[in-house]
Amino acid sequence: MSETPSETPKTPEIYKCCDNPQITYLAPVNINIDERTIGSVDVWRCAACMKAFCEEKTLGIDSITDIVGMPRIEDDEKWAVIVSKLQKGKDKWKLVKLKQNGMIKFETADEKFIDLKIEDYKIVDDFHSSFLVLDHIHTAVEI
Ligand SMILES: [Zn+2]
Repeated sequence: MSETPSETPKTPEIYKCCDNPQITYLAPVNINIDERTIGSVDVWRCAACMKAFCEEKTLGIDSITDIVGMPRIEDDEKWAVIVSKLQKGKDKWKLVKLKQNGMIKFETADEKFIDLKIEDYKIVDDFHSSFLVLDHIHTAVEI
């Protein structure tokens, strides 16, 4: 087995999103503060069912995900990044899965859980905002 060095991350263990998963790396979405990239979200997509999978990357940390293999997402959820106006640096953002409406339990940087309101896949809160990852493929988002 020889591996060719490449910029594209290796495909993680395949999560069976459908009968014939063909998951390939799609693109990164960079997270910027003051035009400096502080992290990114890697986006993968299944060519068979078109379901997308995301993984959070903070620069300088190899792997912070505690989910083994491909992170799961339900059919009624979308990948999003929640941005906190109360935090700075790498604590300012977090990859989440949002339902269309309702509430999400959000873990803050100091490990408290707060309820945030979701309206049409967007966080509605004085101190938090959000954006959908798939709306920003191949781009950098200033937070
Ligand atoms: Zn699939």
